[in-house]
Amino acid sequence: MQKAFLSGLMMEQPLLVSEILSHAQRCHASTEIVSRLWSGEIVRTSWGEMAKRSAQLAQALQAEGVDIGSGKRIATLAWNGARHLELYYAVPSMGAVLHTLNPRLFHAQLIYIIQHAEDEIIFVDPHLLPFASALDRALGSVKKWVALCDANELTGILAQFSVQNNALGLSCAALKGLQDYESFIAPFSGEMSWPELPEQMACGLCYTSGTTGDPKGVLYSHRSTVLHALASALPDVKNLSARDAALPVVPMFHVNAWGIPYSAGIVGCKLILPGPRVDGDSLFELLDLEGATLTVGVPTIWMLLLETMRQHGRKPFKLERISVGGAACPPALSDPFIQEFGIEVNHGWGMTETSPVGSLSKPRNTTSTVAASTLHHRHGRPLFGVQMEIVDEQGRALPHDGKATGELLVKGHWVANNYFGAHKENAIPPGEWFHTGDVANIDTEENIQIIDRTKDMIKSGGEWISSIALENAAMEHPEVQEAAAIGLPHPKWGERPLLLVVRRERGGEVDESDQANDVLTQGILAIMAKNVARWWLPNAVIFVQSLPRTATGKLYKITLRDQYRDFIFPPEQLP
Ligand code: AMP
Repeated sequence: MQKAFLSGLMMEQPLLVSEILSHAQRCHASTEIVSRLWSGEIVRTSWGEMAKRSAQLAQALQAEGVDIGSGKRIATLAWNGARHLELYYAVPSMGAVLHTLNPRLFHAQLIYIIQHAEDEIIFVDPHLLPFASALDRALGSVKKWVALCDANELTGILAQFSVQNNALGLSCAALKGLQDYESFIAPFSGEMSWPELPEQMACGLCYTSGTTGDPKGVLYSHRSTVLHALASALPDVKNLSARDAALPVVPMFHVNAWGIPYSAGIVGCKLILPGPRVDGDSLFELLDLEGATLTVGVPTIWMLLLETMRQHGRKPFKLERISVGGAACPPALSDPFIQEFGIEVNHGWGMTETSPVGSLSKPRNTTSTVAASTLHHRHGRPLFGVQMEIVDEQGRALPHDGKATGELLVKGHWVANNYFGAHKENAIPPGEWFHTGDVANIDTEENIQIIDRTKDMIKSGGEWISSIALENAAMEHPEVQEAAAIGLPHPKWGERPLLLVVRRERGGEVDESDQANDVLTQGILAIMAKNVARWWLPNAVIFVQSLPRTATGKLYKITLRDQYRDFIFPPEQLP
């Protein structure tokens, strides 16, 4: 029986997304939200205006049959922009569920996801209408598409599609219930008070990339979302404040753009939303023009930005810090940001199931300047609200000594305990751990280091080789732009590593001769040998034009393993 306890005498209020919106509207009404549209045009709004339009949107959705507190899934197929931000706030605040769809997924995956989530209305960027029309016929649940633009833009883009291809134009125009966003919200006043919902209520839905098996839906609650956004804004995480201008390159269609849209509302910072143009030049220009102080994204983006910064010989003028995560970030990529441009780099780890931010690298009061400059080679310590452990194959906890490696387990306020639509019996019992499928070590200061995905580790002669460590070591060679290491079957050792390399082209000139390749291979292996054990070195290096990536920017190693399934290692290169 539970003992009676002395209750605190504090007001109780549910933690709700609408509270963030109302706060931003009250305290940061004039702070700017800047979007670059698919057309390249830059448009400006503010937290105050955005909040009013979010209320109009909620009223429009109600008129469309989405009742307050209904939990209905409302989907988006869109890049980062202010209208998408309005959906981020309006849909949860009215008690519906925002389901963000990743336009980089295959059609079949998207169709599966939309049907599984039973999305009824989908908001889509106008330039993605042809993509939407290819999906529409297969979608039973969807009854309305809303294009994120005004009536003129919609007419213009439909005409443009028709000129390109008449059938395409017609199929876009025939999307069920197609309407432009501005006409959709225009009839409504924006005068409404947000409902008081239970904080455990679902507010967001994001499916995992599903590299193996069907994608699985992670269903965030208001409580988990608000706590995650609060913790992510802390000084030892994104260090966000009202003095910042944040540019999330990480897309709003994947894991809530790392919580930035909500953290930004809490602190009232300027938000810069780049739309689909995330090449090095476009990013540099926008960061510079809008005075961004912080930007966040996956490593591939920083590769592009670094090249542009080197061409300009400077950084975007106010840029202070970059958060990187979502995939392994080689030191060869992150170090130059600090050494050449004086930008702080924070390396984090997370996953869809952890909302996503789990850890971030930040110095402590006792960290020396020298140690601070390489802190981002690890993945930082857990945020308040997240706990981490590593275990061996028998599930026994391993020491936190920076050496022992095992599967990373997590638990906390914003860690999933089940997937949307899964049986209740599959739920992780309270107090138990979520198994991440990542292999990591944890050092004496609780900093984690991700060694690999369990499935990507290479087992040679009964010992494990980290594919990430091989890639990082290869990237130290100046001619290596990108690298992927995969394990392939080997008659003697079980598996051996094959390294695939994308060369950095010097002025477009790439020497294709075998001799040049051999020289480069030897050079790469020599540099790698400085950072990894000799028996880890790949048995072969193959030069490729590009490497396949998943819809969320990670190396697609399943495809690579499939592609090189029949590759036979040259015997003379066996170590
Ligand atoms: P997703 O759920 O699609 O965001 O993918 C999560 C997975 O991405 C994690 O389980 C890791 O395998 C990987 N990941 C995330 N951040 C990092 C990082 N900083 N370094 C290496 N892998 C990462």
